[in-house]
Formats: sequence, C-alpha cells, structure tokens
Amino acid sequence: MLESYPLYLGNEPQRPNADLEVTDKFSGKPVSRVPLADAKLIDTAIGLAEQAAPAMREMASFERQEILNQCVGRFEERAEEFAQVLCVEAGKPIRDSRGEVSRLIDTFRVAAEESVRMTGEVMTLDISARARGYSGMWKRVPVGPCSFITPFNFPFNLAAHKIAPALAVGCPFVLKPASKTPISALLMGEVLAQTNLPKGAFSILPATREGSDLLTVDDRLKLLSFTGSPAVGWPLKAKAGRKKVVLELGGNAGCVIDEDADLDDAVGRVIVGAFYQSGQSCISVQRIYVHESVYSTFKEKLVAATKKLKCGDPRSEQTFIGPMISETEAERLEKWIQSALASGAKLLCGGGRRGAVLEPSLLEGVAKTESLCAEEAFGPVAVLEAFDDFDAVLDEINDSAFGLQAGLFTRDIYKAHRAWDRLEVGGVVIGDVPSWRVDNMPYGGVKDSGLGREGIRFSMEDMTEIRLMVLRTPRK
Ligand code: NAD
Repeated sequence: MLESYPLYLGNEPQRPNADLEVTDKFSGKPVSRVPLADAKLIDTAIGLAEQAAPAMREMASFERQEILNQCVGRFEERAEEFAQVLCVEAGKPIRDSRGEVSRLIDTFRVAAEESVRMTGEVMTLDISARARGYSGMWKRVPVGPCSFITPFNFPFNLAAHKIAPALAVGCPFVLKPASKTPISALLMGEVLAQTNLPKGAFSILPATREGSDLLTVDDRLKLLSFTGSPAVGWPLKAKAGRKKVVLELGGNAGCVIDEDADLDDAVGRVIVGAFYQSGQSCISVQRIYVHESVYSTFKEKLVAATKKLKCGDPRSEQTFIGPMISETEAERLEKWIQSALASGAKLLCGGGRRGAVLEPSLLEGVAKTESLCAEEAFGPVAVLEAFDDFDAVLDEINDSAFGLQAGLFTRDIYKAHRAWDRLEVGGVVIGDVPSWRVDNMPYGGVKDSGLGREGIRFSMEDMTEIRLMVLRTPRK
C-alpha cells in the first residue's frame, strides 16, 4: 500500500475527500486514495492563481532560480521513493521509473539555469525620417495564470515540463494530473509546498471531468498547455477562447534502417524505442522501414532480440516489459493485432497477453489502412516493411495523420539532410530512434501531433509575451 495523499490548493495540502482510487497497475489492486477536485475547488484555485500573479511576476530571477534548485535538491533526496511510487501507480518497470525521475531532476535543473537567462533586445526604430530619434527595447513578461493538463505515461516529467518553466518565468498555475497516475504530481506538490513560492502560486488537483472544463474555458487563465491524446487535445483548443494553447499529442513514429546502417546497433536501439515502458511513449517506434538489401538480416536479429525481453512484474530489476496502463488498453491493442492478421499480416513474434501485460510484438505485411499502421498504437507493437527507394520511404513516413519525430539510421549525410528537409515532423533523429529525447531540446509535433514546442526554453517563450518600450529622444 502507498499512503493517501492530499491535493494542493493554493500551495496548501488539503483533503476535501478521498474520492479517487489509485490502483497498482500490475496487480490491479487499489493502493491509495487521493482527493478529487470539483468545479468549485478549481474555480478557487484559478482565483488564487490570479491573485498570486503580481507576486510571481515580481520575484527576482535569482529567487526563482533558488526555488527551482531547492526542488532539484529535494527530488534528488527522494529519487528512489519517487521511482518506487511511479513503478506502482503507472506499472512502469523500476529501471524506467528511475530513468524518469532522473529526467525530472534534469528538467528542473535546466529550468533553474534558464531562469536567469531571460533576455530581450535593443532595436533601432529610426528606419525612416518620421522615426528619427526613436529606439526600442523589448523584454519578456509572464503571461499570467496557466492551466496544465498532463497524461499518465510520464506523470513526473511531463508535469515538470510545464511546472519548471512556469516557475522559471514567474507564472502561477493550476495543474490537473492524469486520473490514472495522480500521485507523482502530488509528490511534486509536496516539494513545491516547502518552498517560498508566493501564496496561491500553484494548485495541483486531480479533478472530475466536469471540473476540468474550467481549466480550458476560464478566461482568467492565459495559457492552456495540454499533453495527451489528439482526441482530447484538439477539442479543448476549440473551447479555449482567447488563451494561448500548446498541444503535445500522440504519434505513430516511423524509423528508417538504411542499407549502410550498423544493424546490431540499430536493433539495440529499436528494441528500446519500440518496447521500453511497453511502448507507451508518444514517440515509440511503430513503423519500421528497412532497406530491402538488409531486411531479412535485420528482421531476424530484431525478432531474436525481442523474444529475449523479460515481461512481467515492473518491480523486478530484470523486467523490460511491464503492464500497459490498463487491461482494457492491452485488449484494445490485442484486437488491433488480430485485425491486422485477419487482413493478411504475418506475426513475427509476440501477440500473447496476460492481463494488462501484452508481449512485445512484431508484424510484417500490415495493410496501411489497419489501425496498427494508421493510428497510434501506444503499446509494445511495431510493424516492419521493406523499401528500396529512399525518397519513397520519406513519403511513406509523411503519409500519416501524425508528425512528432522520425528516426533514420544512415551514415550518408546527404540523406540525413534530405530527411531533415522533407519529413513533416517536429524532429528528425539521425543515427537513433524517433523515441530519443533529452529535456532541453525543442520537442513537439505537427499535423495531428500538436501545436508548439516544449523543452524548457521553448516553453518559457510560450509562457511569456513580448513587451516593448519605445524611447523618443527629442532633438535639441
Ligand atoms: P488522454 O488524452 O486520455 O488524457 C490526458 C489528460 O487529459 C489526462 O489528465 C486526462 O484526465 C485529461 N482529460 C481527458 N479528457 C479531458 C477533458 N474533456 N477535459 C480536460 N481534461 C481531460 O491521454 P493519456 O491516455 O493520459 O495519455 C496518452 C496520450 O498522450 C497518447 O496519445 C500520447 O501520445 C500522448 N502523449 C503525448 C506526449 C507529447 O509530448 N507529445 C507525451 C506523452 C503522451
């Protein structure tokens, strides 16, 4: 059992109820209860954030940096505890859970560094006779209260990608974590509550669906930053009114293994990209395109390596594939595999399921119209296809509703540049899988995959707006 955790309303821990049950995602058993905020509580939180905005704006950058550094210190001290909680509430294998907590620390550390580097520009404005004697300067000012909504699959680090830049620029916020994994964000709330943040600066509220509506529609909030599925994200944007909107959504990432790739290296990386944390990553390798001259060798090596992956209890140090977030999700993906097989695809390995644990699965010959190709699988499944024409394979990757990241194993710099120019994605990763991310890089997608970029500095730009000062120097 885990403890029962409070929510955070205007920096204060509160337990108005214990309505949300949190389960162990491997056993399915309840392990904790946390409060669930309703619309009234969210309304209060937004009001507190609005009142905190001037104090947040007026903090000196060294004060913001101190708070972020204080969080880094506390996260480091509690890293193992955080990883153990994450392993239970998300079913994330313990090694990956530790990896996520180390990224949480990176994200706050980079935000602490960036918090003292907000710059502007001095401009000449005397571009014509009527502007003689004028100059300008612009700086960035915080947009004000923000609302953040985060998904289940990286409950620490994706909340950190919103919280840390907000603190770095001085925006108060209200965050709603995913109902399946609310504890990670509440643990971050416990740490934030021990800092000197101005009263009311933050609220972290697991919330009912009706309550969550305010986070999108309330005009006191100046920015909505949402990470989650396209099916939820785009309709929220349509309801968001005048606020800025950032959407970090899903994908069905493509990865190309070209004829000159080091196949053993590529296999090792594809195993991680396709299957770590059961493929529940928005940039999980889903569509693998292999040059026909190396297709059968690569396939053989990849299948052999996939069969060796250990599935089961995420608490075990040896486990590579833990449960998916729910049995329903594992059943959904199992059906997608069966549908592809029924329409002529071949199963190379996997396909079996025990409860929420779906075996890592590889297929070939999957029709492009099958969900396994066309939609976001968000599970431990990838499909292989041979190609012979490099430009055609770039078109294949682009032939998708999504565009988050793509990966390309090649040693040919010209092909690397061609891919970078032509692929309709937010990022092209050369020599690695599309699933590679580090927390200071610009990260986000195009098409159905979203709008805007995260990666501290880029979020800080979104959470601020430019304010100009024009200076007229009268002629004597
Ligand atoms: P989801 O869209 O079901 O939920 C995301 C969040 O939105 C949760 O907090 C959920 O409670 C909330 N939510 C759902 N309906 C809502 C509504 N009507 N109003 C307000 N909030 C609402 O996504 P999920 O299942 O938690 O996460 C998986 C999805 O997230 C996948 O599509 C994945 O690709 C995507 N994702 C994207 C990124 C990225 O950075 N691009 C990162 C991780 C996950």
